[in-house]
Amino acid sequence: MGEFELIRNYFAAAPCAQGGEGIALGIGDDCALLALPAGEQLAVSTDTLVAGVHFADPCDPFLLGQRSLAVAVSDLAAMGAHPLAFTLALTTPTVNADWLQRYAEGLNLMAQRCGVGLVGGDTTRGPLSLTLTVFGRVPAGQALTRSGARPGDLLCVGGELGNAAGALSLVLGQRNADAAVADPLLAHYWSPQPQLALGLALRGKATAAMDISDGLLADCGHIATASAVSLLIERQRLPLSQALLAFVGEDAARVAALSGGDDYVLVFTLPSDELASLLADGWPVHVIGRVEAGQGVTLLDGNGHDITPAIHGYQHFQQTP
Ligand code: ADP
Ligand code: MG
Repeated sequence: MGEFELIRNYFAAAPCAQGGEGIALGIGDDCALLALPAGEQLAVSTDTLVAGVHFADPCDPFLLGQRSLAVAVSDLAAMGAHPLAFTLALTTPTVNADWLQRYAEGLNLMAQRCGVGLVGGDTTRGPLSLTLTVFGRVPAGQALTRSGARPGDLLCVGGELGNAAGALSLVLGQRNADAAVADPLLAHYWSPQPQLALGLALRGKATAAMDISDGLLADCGHIATASAVSLLIERQRLPLSQALLAFVGEDAARVAALSGGDDYVLVFTLPSDELASLLADGWPVHVIGRVEAGQGVTLLDGNGHDITPAIHGYQHFQQTP
């Protein structure tokens, strides 16, 4: 199978590559063409996943297809952007028809769930890696950036934390667990659900937002820096799932929630008078702390004592106001 047959069979023919909102021209020419409504800006983000670095190889190609797109689309959710389209740059050492078929199926399922169309890409031979670029639209000036947090805002997350990090020993085959515990954790790792609807609901309300990919502490550090504020996190407020608590216990669950990464849950700052209406509308908003004047990220125990971990790699999050 040659390069063009591969593209045609597995990607151009996929249901998610048959056009959609905002797609004036899809796969097949030198560029795709996207059409934006007047007054909207294009939101663009790229993510690369390298075999052996970002995912175990071999792994289930269907799950990899889902995950590779979900982590990219999560960046659109974090900006409050409405998803439109994506491209796929695939580098693979061999052409394995079964692998490509199942990868494309997983990709297609997540694309349809997120409402993005595949509009192009590149296909090359080399060590397995995937680069996905996502495109969304957002009314000019309304994107949720990292830089608007203000002292007095609440610090919130959009769901339970630490599940994907808790799943890692299952993913790597180092541990086993009953399905009731393992399945929800593995689902969170392999099939994260980008919080697109929440991102849209936060437009005009949240003052800053991002998606958690590197762990809550590290990612809050980015908001603190960009907004030039101090973020205080109250440890006992971290939302933890029953499955994670059952699998690793409370202490390890908190570590996973604070620095595990791969959550793809939104973290955002919110003026306190916006909270009630978001909760009334049923949005999953968990208040985990607050914004103060100063800089950096501080973790507090139930008595308000600073227990910011001195973990290597997180030193720069220990600055206190
Ligand atoms: P060019 O040489 O102009 O860069 P290619 O020959 O690489 O284009 O690709 C031909 C068409 O197929 C282009 O429209 C490109 O966007 C698309 N394409 C290539 N690889 C992929 C892929 N893995 N998934 C989706 N579309 C792809
Ligand atoms: Mg060309």
